[in-house]
Amino acid sequence: MNSPHIREQWQALADGLSLRTRAFINGQYVDAASGATFDCVSPIDGRVLGRIADCGQLDIDHAVAAARRSFNAGHWSALKPVKRKQVLLKMAALVEQHADELAVLEALDMGKPVAEARRVDIGGVIRCIQWTAEAVDKLYGEVAPTGANELGLITREPLGVVGAIVPWNFPLLMAAWKIAPALAAGNSVVLKPSEKSPLSALRFAELVAEAGVPEGVFNVVPGNGKGAGEPLALHMDVDGLVFTGSTAVGKRLLQCAGLSNMKRAYMECGGKSPNIVFADAHDLDKAAEAAASAIFYNQGEVCTAGSRLLVERSIKDAFVAKVIEHGRHMQPAHPFEPKAAMGAMVDEAQAQRVLGYIEQGTAEGARLLLGGKRAEVVSGGCYIEPTVFDEVSPQQRIAREEIFGPVLSVIAFDGEQQALQLANDTEYGLAAGVWTRDVSRAHRVARGLRAGSVWVNYWDGGDMTAPFGGYKQSGNGRDKSLHAFDKYTEMKATWINLEG
Ligand code: NAD
Repeated sequence: MNSPHIREQWQALADGLSLRTRAFINGQYVDAASGATFDCVSPIDGRVLGRIADCGQLDIDHAVAAARRSFNAGHWSALKPVKRKQVLLKMAALVEQHADELAVLEALDMGKPVAEARRVDIGGVIRCIQWTAEAVDKLYGEVAPTGANELGLITREPLGVVGAIVPWNFPLLMAAWKIAPALAAGNSVVLKPSEKSPLSALRFAELVAEAGVPEGVFNVVPGNGKGAGEPLALHMDVDGLVFTGSTAVGKRLLQCAGLSNMKRAYMECGGKSPNIVFADAHDLDKAAEAAASAIFYNQGEVCTAGSRLLVERSIKDAFVAKVIEHGRHMQPAHPFEPKAAMGAMVDEAQAQRVLGYIEQGTAEGARLLLGGKRAEVVSGGCYIEPTVFDEVSPQQRIAREEIFGPVLSVIAFDGEQQALQLANDTEYGLAAGVWTRDVSRAHRVARGLRAGSVWVNYWDGGDMTAPFGGYKQSGNGRDKSLHAFDKYTEMKATWINLEG
């Protein structure tokens, strides 16, 4: 099946959609117990797309109880892994079948270009579920090195009920990184999507059921952080809490785990990633193009955005001129334009936040070289121009805080030591890039960087085969790869006395 390739076709697909707006609990769509709803507003044009169930404590209680019942019943948790694999593979196939629709939901709900949503987000969801499904019947336990009189078995068991709280920048993809290994390991799941982007998760719930996941095993409870997120994080019958979002909320959730039942808690949080360009990089044109897309892709709403560009002083001006040339061609457009490089910011609040940082950058003395304003793409929409600040001091707020928008801070450096010192001078440690043709330097710098992912001579490498997560205040867990299973399983040691 070919995806639409012109704006009108995507629009027609959007116009024909019937949105799922109610919570999905115990295999059924239901209203919030209180009857409350919140407006789902599209940042493309400010239109209200629908009224979404605004879940609270009672709904969380229902969802957790359904998850617990299903877990205890064993219809999913006690299945042979190969059976769970078959269901997950069917789930991936169903996502593929509905990929265009899911991509449109992401574009409508959070403003990203639909073609990117189709390729990166939904393509990533499919690959994540498939890869995880394929892995699940190849994971073995261990036998302890004992004497002849005893047997020590080391096994992995599902945690039980997992609460997953996710952000809006890659709504279904961030959810899939949690849901796929959680379900594959045999857990039941309660997912709280962001209140800014609930639509794809609500539609996905139906596909999960159609794939054959028994009722109660997968639940979706839309709502805001305080009303739905905290009750889930504080719930005494949730065994594991997995989160992707801001560092501030991640810290609060670690407290919630401690205040309640010491549930396992894994946080994937923010970043302020340095992209280091040495004068000896072999292709400065390619590096400049990558530096522009590292910050402007997805409107800069990326946890690993290359928001700090560190450039060796001898090439700084020439290099920045190239980055600006690429940035100029990445102006925001209607997200249904198939070639749109950027779409809309997720909502007006986020647009205002980003504009506030831009104002502050200028006030604190950085030199604005590109953009800096709202873009009028569609009336009522939330669009911001690609923005570049040069001569940023490492102490300025735009160099230290996560802006989560298309705003690049350029900082010059002299030599390897200073590059590393500047790169690591941050509370975050999610990702970093290094551009150099010197192999020894590449290894030295990569080793010196305090970051969970390091990319040498490109940006944003990686797939399902390697773990993803942060050092320092970027988080404490890892998504993707076999390491992800660590978050969703308990390790048991069983000792058997063979005497008598
Ligand atoms: P956020 O922290 O504001 O919200 C994330 C989720 O937490 C949402 O579902 C929200 O409703 C919920 N939440 C908010 N307050 C809560 C509370 N008190 N209790 C329970 N839940 C609560 O983040 P956001 O604005 O949605 O997303 C942007 C952030 O996500 C950025 O910091 C970005 O770097 C980060 N992010 C990290 C990764 C990663 O893998 N490390 C990936 C994507 C995004």
